[in-house]
Amino acid sequence: MRLSELKEGQEGYVVKILGHGAFRKRLTEMGFVRGKLVKNVLSAPLKDPVKYSLLGYEVSLRRSEAQMVEIIEAEKAENPILSPIEERLQANDISDIPPALRHEEHIINIALIGNPNCGKTSMFNQLSGATEHVGNYSGVTVEAKQGRFKHKGYTFNIVDLPGTYSLAAYSPEELYVRRYLEQETPDVIVNVVVASNLERNLYLTTELIDMDRSMVIALNMYDELENSGSKLDHELLGKMIGVPIVPTISKSGLGMDELLERIIAVYEGKDESVRHIHVTLGDDISEAISPIKELIKKEASIAPKFSARYLAIKFLEKDREVEAMVRKAASYSEMCRLRESGRKKVEESRDEDVTAAIAAEKYGFIDGALAETMSGERETSTRATAIIDAFVTNRLFGIPLFLGVMFLVFWLTFSIGAYPMEWIERGVDTLNAFIDGNFPAGPLKDMISDGIIGGVGSVIVFLPNILILYACISFMEDSGYMARAAFIMDRAMHRMGIHGKSFIPLLMGFGCNVPAVMATRTIESRSSRLITILINPFMSCSARIPVFLLLIGTFFSAHAALVFFAMYGLGVGIAMLTARLLRRFIWKKDETPFVMELPPYRVPTLKATLRHTWGKGKEYIKKMGGIILVACIVVWALDYFPRHDEPSEPQTSLTANDTQINPAHDSYLEMIGKVVNPVMEPLGMNWRATVAAIAGIPAKEIVVSTMGVLYTGDNDADNNRLSTKLTAPSAITGEPDFTPASALAFMVFILLYCPCIATVIAIVKEAGSWKYGAFAVGYNTLIAWIVAFAVYHIALLF
Ligand code: GDP
Ligand code: MG
Repeated sequence: MRLSELKEGQEGYVVKILGHGAFRKRLTEMGFVRGKLVKNVLSAPLKDPVKYSLLGYEVSLRRSEAQMVEIIEAEKAENPILSPIEERLQANDISDIPPALRHEEHIINIALIGNPNCGKTSMFNQLSGATEHVGNYSGVTVEAKQGRFKHKGYTFNIVDLPGTYSLAAYSPEELYVRRYLEQETPDVIVNVVVASNLERNLYLTTELIDMDRSMVIALNMYDELENSGSKLDHELLGKMIGVPIVPTISKSGLGMDELLERIIAVYEGKDESVRHIHVTLGDDISEAISPIKELIKKEASIAPKFSARYLAIKFLEKDREVEAMVRKAASYSEMCRLRESGRKKVEESRDEDVTAAIAAEKYGFIDGALAETMSGERETSTRATAIIDAFVTNRLFGIPLFLGVMFLVFWLTFSIGAYPMEWIERGVDTLNAFIDGNFPAGPLKDMISDGIIGGVGSVIVFLPNILILYACISFMEDSGYMARAAFIMDRAMHRMGIHGKSFIPLLMGFGCNVPAVMATRTIESRSSRLITILINPFMSCSARIPVFLLLIGTFFSAHAALVFFAMYGLGVGIAMLTARLLRRFIWKKDETPFVMELPPYRVPTLKATLRHTWGKGKEYIKKMGGIILVACIVVWALDYFPRHDEPSEPQTSLTANDTQINPAHDSYLEMIGKVVNPVMEPLGMNWRATVAAIAGIPAKEIVVSTMGVLYTGDNDADNNRLSTKLTAPSAITGEPDFTPASALAFMVFILLYCPCIATVIAIVKEAGSWKYGAFAVGYNTLIAWIVAFAVYHIALLF
């Protein structure tokens, strides 16, 4: 009987909990564990919730929840209970625990669910010993057939349900199966799939996964798969989707024992493959679902039967049955409002209706799961996708094609980006001229024109490049190509100890590390995600470009492209090395594998691409308005004060009197630089370079603008003039401040050292602990020092 039937004052023992995984987990945590004694302490008629006492605590459950707890009445137990059950369980003395609660008396209710003709009835006959009619045409099973058998002390009640392709509420069969799952809540669902036609069969599986029920997959007609010559790593597939998979041939009875073993293991909660995963549905659909899901979660009356995620998906699809279940909810009108706006967004960005979009995403999930686990002939969801994929993910063409695409992306970013960059530069100049002509001279004017406009202006010029890069990435993501790129890079990524999904965030790191670190959220495996977060700062972000432009232009103009490429390559190399080290020493074992979706290709709408570009670019703009603005003012102030001479005279003048002769002229910034410089001298860095590196900690864009301030003294960071100053011999030593060797070391140092503050904050937030931020600061700076030292001394040899 069910707990809800227990009358006031009566007691009963918990046998099991039905319903979806999250609900079972919650009740188990409340103490509803097999063998525990529960008492109904207070249940006024029609009163909801009902109060129960359990383990000496009082808990209240709604009737709908109590309905999901199976119990046996204490009075019906063979032996009266004398001592408290808790003590006996601890003493392992179960002799007086009612037999139904003991392991060997267990009843497991299983239901066979699968497409028509997948061999359910044959399996039913094999397991139960019945002789139901088996037919090679659909529709033979019109209603559920029941059977009962024993195995290893467990009693199995088995139901053969009608065949269905999905759990939509369209056909009578679909409706029947859904109502059965709702009302009878079987303990373990046996999802029978045809091994030789997994693409279509696994669709139903994704719906069952959404429901979050205990489940085992019978990979039936395994003989046909073997005959076809294809190979499937079913263990890996099972781990990826969190459902144990057992190969079976229900015609001959092969695999039935193992199937039962796994059913028992799942029932007892001992199967290691079992894990609740989310079949990913794309950002737009997920965003539409999650607020609805939150509202449904609060509705305890509907929660225990189906998982909130499943209900939210079906509600979004305007499923009639779910609509009826949800209609009574207090927040129904709010849900409808959310549904309308969610549907509109999805339909606008995809040009297809929500149901079709969800189905496409599910097939993408299945394609991805099979692409990684199955070899040989494989069908994909659509023909066009299959044809394009044949080229794009081809072993031979895949990577060269990808490199070509990346080249195109970077070309677009820098060549097209050069035009708006020029406009912005002109705008900044005009603004400066305006301030110059209209403000009275003094610290305020200096702060506005040198600190704010000079500093932020030198950063804002890169905004077009960043936005173009993000537009390209969004386009590749929305079209479905990025998923393939990640897929073909998967193998290489695995060699580094991370996952193919890490690839996109790493690529985004070339724009800005902040949104890139946030983009790691799609990586399900925690250790892979942490590693991806920690190596991301080594991806040379666009803020480092001005440093490279300046120094490469000054010292290596003959081999500019090569040196540029070498810098990016060095960053990637250090990232790979770090990933391997982390995998070797910190996170030795990767967690469970997960599916990389391969969504069907589609032409992205302009609106969606623009929206996604903006979503990523926003972070960069926020960074400029916040941290960079503040840092520019601070750097400016440290350089401006203390004032000794009349303000019009520059504090540091390279040609006239060197600062080392005249320490009274030192600004705070110079003082700091000179104190820290001994540490940096082995890298060939002078105090100005040191100051620039320190100033770059808030944001690396500030490195060049600081050098501009330090070298020109007249606040003009014009690169040409800055270059001549960099190579001009110093007044005291007669040596120039930078040589090719020290310039190289400086670039390496700026490339690798401590991530900018915004990135550190993002790391701490995403990784969930300040320790990871501290690691990034310490480790990266150390690595930067070591590599720069090596580069400097090797370069000196030439
Ligand atoms: P149901 O519609 O899911 O109940 O499927 P049935 O049990 O009626 O089986 C459909 C057809 O598939 C029958 O002709 C069975 O003999 C055949 N079949 C069932 N299991 C297997 C199997 O493991 N291998 C092969 N080759 N055929 C099978
Ligand atoms: Mg049948």
